[in-house]
Amino acid sequence: MCGIVGILGSANVTERLVAGLARLEYRGYDSAGVAVLQPDGVAMRRAVGKLDSLRVTLAANPLSGLIGIGHTRWATHGAATEANAHPHHAGPVTVVHNGIIENYADLRAELTTGGAVFSSQTDTEVVAQICARMMAGGLEPVAAVAATLGRIMGAYALVFIFDGEDDLMIAARQGSPLAIGYGETDAAGDSEMFVGSDALALAAFSQHVSYLDDGDMAVLTHRRTVILDRAGAEVVRPVQEIVAESWAVDKGPYRHFMAKEIFEQPESIARALRGLVNHQNGCLKPLLAGVDFTTADRVVLVACGTAHYACHIAKYWIERFASLPVEIEIASEFRYRDLALSGREIAIFVSQSGETADTLAALKHLFIDKDTIFCRMWPHGAATDDAALVTGEER
Ligand code: GLU
Repeated sequence: MCGIVGILGSANVTERLVAGLARLEYRGYDSAGVAVLQPDGVAMRRAVGKLDSLRVTLAANPLSGLIGIGHTRWATHGAATEANAHPHHAGPVTVVHNGIIENYADLRAELTTGGAVFSSQTDTEVVAQICARMMAGGLEPVAAVAATLGRIMGAYALVFIFDGEDDLMIAARQGSPLAIGYGETDAAGDSEMFVGSDALALAAFSQHVSYLDDGDMAVLTHRRTVILDRAGAEVVRPVQEIVAESWAVDKGPYRHFMAKEIFEQPESIARALRGLVNHQNGCLKPLLAGVDFTTADRVVLVACGTAHYACHIAKYWIERFASLPVEIEIASEFRYRDLALSGREIAIFVSQSGETADTLAALKHLFIDKDTIFCRMWPHGAATDDAALVTGEER
């Protein structure tokens, strides 16, 4: 799951969009793009590969404007090509998306039957096409996005801008994280507003963010931001201060992020353990009050990619020190399997970013009731719904 940045600005946004995307580069991506509102509609620049390719594209064909969205893509539907790179555009609608639209094939078939012509292979383009169709049917942008959200299923963080709307950006979240950043308010009472899939992307622009909850839709203008929950009721999401540590977002002296991660392992482990060790007696603090490991008959570790490799180390340690059998599952397979569960297992979902779509989907698949999930994100130490440990009895 990759990166989103949106800016409702009072000065040119293009460079800031790319700078925001650069802060998300550590997550990996295969292509990138920006869309900026122009007097005659939204214009896009997209490129395959690293942000430098997008910078080259922008240098050859500059783009400036006061409102825009940017995206780094990790392809799930359709190859890493320029046509599949985000943003995606249909009618007056331009959108960026992180996640997966599970019912995209049905929607695409329906739209195609209705005459829609697709320019990409992505699941995301159906979102733009549905929203454009809603607007063609007479809905205003806010109502059109709300109606679109009612048609799509899956995991998404979405940010929309619209041709001719120079004071409107709409964001929505279901299963993929999204934060709203509040800029300084000027004498006229207007603020620049920001949207990011990760507060780190916003750290250079805004120190105050609200995290959307699943089901939320945020309507941003310079004067006011309204957040609506799934039922359409206006809600207030707490505003938090961002404490961004630069080590997390730049490559430092290393050539690439992989080298940085390898050489930073001692520091990362020290950071991760910092809040977990009782420095008086040298023992670990109790990690999760309420989870009784003594009743468990096994541990199931669920993860993807590097986190999956890390689980193999955890298996050695848990089996050696706790004498509990450990099974390791790949998250992307997990929700499609018939699981033989005793009800006494402890499942631990491991994610490097806390946002891995397949891992979160596996978590939600197994444990419907979110209130029974014990959550903890390391090394940040804050409770979060993005990393979780759950007892089998609480399914
Ligand atoms: N599913 C979308 C695509 O393949 C978004 C992928 C992402 O999160 O970057 O374009």
